[in-house]
Amino acid sequence: MGNKVVYKGFTLIDGTGADALDNAYLVVEDKRILQVGSLSEYIQGEDDEVVDLTGKTVMPGLINSHVHIVMEPVGDPNSILINESPYKTVLRGANNLKKHLYSGTTFFRDLGGYDYIDLVLRDAVNEGLIEGAEFLASGKVVTMTGGHGWIMGREADGVEETRKAAREQLKAGADVIKIMATGGVMTKGVEPGSPQLSMEEMKAAVDEAHKAGKLTATHAQGTTGIKNAVLAGIDSVEHGIFLDDEVIQMMLDKGTYLVPTLVAPYFIVKYGVENGVPQYAVDKSKYVMDYHNESFRKAYKAGVKIAMGTDSGTPFNQHGGAPWELKLMVENGMTPMEAITASTKNSADCLGILNSYGTLEAGKFADFIVLNDNPLVNLDTLFDVENVYKLGKKVK
Ligand SMILES: [Zn+2]
Repeated sequence: MGNKVVYKGFTLIDGTGADALDNAYLVVEDKRILQVGSLSEYIQGEDDEVVDLTGKTVMPGLINSHVHIVMEPVGDPNSILINESPYKTVLRGANNLKKHLYSGTTFFRDLGGYDYIDLVLRDAVNEGLIEGAEFLASGKVVTMTGGHGWIMGREADGVEETRKAAREQLKAGADVIKIMATGGVMTKGVEPGSPQLSMEEMKAAVDEAHKAGKLTATHAQGTTGIKNAVLAGIDSVEHGIFLDDEVIQMMLDKGTYLVPTLVAPYFIVKYGVENGVPQYAVDKSKYVMDYHNESFRKAYKAGVKIAMGTDSGTPFNQHGGAPWELKLMVENGMTPMEAITASTKNSADCLGILNSYGTLEAGKFADFIVLNDNPLVNLDTLFDVENVYKLGKKVK
């Protein structure tokens, strides 16, 4: 038996979407939650270490479904990536991992690394070599020749090639397969609205992932490409900028997740060319932003499953900046509780880790954050997390 630590007296938001519970307690043994509930039901053991958190709010650590850990969120992240030493990129990634963890994101999913550095960083965290948020990683994105993200990706054309590209990522140790269904903002010369890999090409990659027990995610902005990806059996649509009623219904029917990443174009437009963002990225972001917000609102109202992701690493989209995305989700119609649930339970479900993460329930890993204020009343308190606990250990 390990050491039991009892946290008590706080307001609990457990991540399930249930109402907040005042004067709660949480018992942690080693890495896991042993008990959680109302303090009135707790019987203290003799050797229990007690931590009084009266006046604080406790909730699960945030889970960010869309990050690029090796990318630096400057005006033109791609130019750093392709020009710097890979050794420096490793250090950059390690530094970014801490930013997520210390800001309260205890788990994330990387959806586009460079030269498999993402997989090395993931293993280094799991082995305890470096401190950082735990994460799942995709390895190289699968994209058509010259398609979105080709600079960092595995270019593949035709059904047999995309199948092979997915198998290569699985062989390298990817946890998830990322597939490019459409053009995007950050690659010069490709249009966000235009379809790229075909339904058949994507289906081959999706089938390989599913055969191996892994989930899939697609960069998908234009309507036709999103439909192709959903028909191909994709598990999460990233960005989903141009959603129409038909594709929303398809996503509802198939249970496909939407990871909107509203902050990605927001920061590109906010900082703009004067801060070094390429003109083409600013122009495209300005064009898509209103559609993007509108699509999010429609999908949310229709009841599409929504998980939180930021696309951190794109221009001025900070590692550890997840609270910005929650703010934009609330500005576009979600209640603060819904935004929190999207960022905890739903993200865990989207990543396929809900059995062990995402909510504060007995048996799950003790990944939680302590806040000075109640985020249901003051969401900004998420920008200034008091303490972060990862696998039962206080890291901040
Ligand atoms: Zn991305």
